[in-house]
Amino acid sequence: MRFIQADWVYPVSSAPIENGVVVLNDEGKIEDVLSRQASENLGDKIEKHSGILCPGFVNTHCHLELSHLKGKLSEKKGLPQFVKEILAGRESDSTTIQLAMKAADREMYSNGINLVGDISNLTDSIVTKTESQIQYYTFIELFDILSTKTKQAFEEGVRLRKKFTEAGLACSLVPHAPYTVTPELFAKINDDIFSSLSTLSIHNQETVSENMFFTDQAGKMFEVMSKVNPDLLSHPPKAESALKYILTFLNSFSKLLLVHNTYTTVDDIKYVLESRKSIYWTICANANLYIEDKLPPIDLLDSMGAKLTIGTDSYASNWSLSVLDELKAIQNAFPEISLEKLIRWATYNGAEALRQTDKFGSLDKGKSPGILLLSLMDNTDLKSGFKSVKRLA
Ligand SMILES: [Zn+2]
Repeated sequence: MRFIQADWVYPVSSAPIENGVVVLNDEGKIEDVLSRQASENLGDKIEKHSGILCPGFVNTHCHLELSHLKGKLSEKKGLPQFVKEILAGRESDSTTIQLAMKAADREMYSNGINLVGDISNLTDSIVTKTESQIQYYTFIELFDILSTKTKQAFEEGVRLRKKFTEAGLACSLVPHAPYTVTPELFAKINDDIFSSLSTLSIHNQETVSENMFFTDQAGKMFEVMSKVNPDLLSHPPKAESALKYILTFLNSFSKLLLVHNTYTTVDDIKYVLESRKSIYWTICANANLYIEDKLPPIDLLDSMGAKLTIGTDSYASNWSLSVLDELKAIQNAFPEISLEKLIRWATYNGAEALRQTDKFGSLDKGKSPGILLLSLMDNTDLKSGFKSVKRLA
C-alpha cells in the first residue's frame, strides 16, 4: 500500500483537496482519496511531494505510425504543403518505423500519458500497442476521394479492424477529413457505427481553405482536390462550413471527436452545442503552431460550454509528444484559463470521449488511471504556470 501526498490533489471528479492523500493498493488501484485530517494518523507511511497530484493524461489524437517523421517536415508552411510532404516522406524501412514507434510510445508514457486515441492507416502499430504500458484506442482512418474507390477503402478498413481486434485492441472505423471522404464513404461509416456504438474522430477545419472548399468551391484545398477528382468541378459539395457538412452525414455515433478546429466559428460551435450530441473538441495546440502557426478559438469554445480534450498529434507535426507541453502552449496564449479546467481537458474529458472512465481520467476508488506529480513554476501559486510532470504510478 502507498500513501501519496502533495500540496494539492486534483481528483478531477471532485473538488481539489489541499494536502490530500491518494491511497494506492498493491495492484496499483486507488483504494481511497483522503483529506489531510483523515490521513493525520498515518505518520511516516506517507510519501510527501511538492506540487499537484492528478490522474494520468489522456492523449486523444496521435498518429503513432508517423513517429519516424520526427523533425523531417517543414514548419509553418500551411496544411496543403504539409500533406504533400507527408505523402512524399511517409515511406521508410520497417525497422526504422518500428523503432520510432517504440520510442514515441515510451516517451508518451514517461511524459505521463496513460491512454491514447491513435489514428492508424496501416497495421504497423499493432506490436507497439500490444506491448505498451499505455492503453490505446485505435481510430482506423478511411478516405477515398473518388467514389469509385469507396468500396475498396471501406473493405480495407474492415480488414484492418479485424487485425486490431484479433490483437485485443479496441478500435473503430473513422473518416479522415471532410474533403477526402465522399458522401458514399461517409454513409458507409455512419451505418457501420450504428451497429457498433463506437467513438468517432475526424480532422476538422484545420486550414482556412477547408471551409472555402464547401462555401465557395474554391481555394487551395479545392484546387488540389479537384485535380485528383475532376468530378468536384461539375458536382461540388456545398455547405455553410466544413463542420456543418460533416454533421449532415454523421449522426449515429455515440461520441465524436472533432480534431484541430483551428478555423471553427461561433456559428459552428452554436450549431454543435444545439445538436445536443456527444461531441468533443480536440485541441492539438503545438501541431497547429507547427503547421499553420495559428491556434483554435480555445477561449471561445470554453466560454460557450464546449467539451475540450487534448491531443499531441504526431511527430510529423510536433516537437514532443507531451500533453503537458500542449497545456503549456494553451496557458501561454490563454493565461486566464484555470489550472483545474486544463487538467480536466487533459484527463477526464479524454477518458470520457474514449469511453474509458471505468479505469482512467480521475482519481477515484477502484481506478488505475496513473498518478502524476505536476510541478508549477511556483508551487505555492496555482496561477504561476506548469513547469514539469513526473510519473509516480
Ligand atoms: Zn491528425
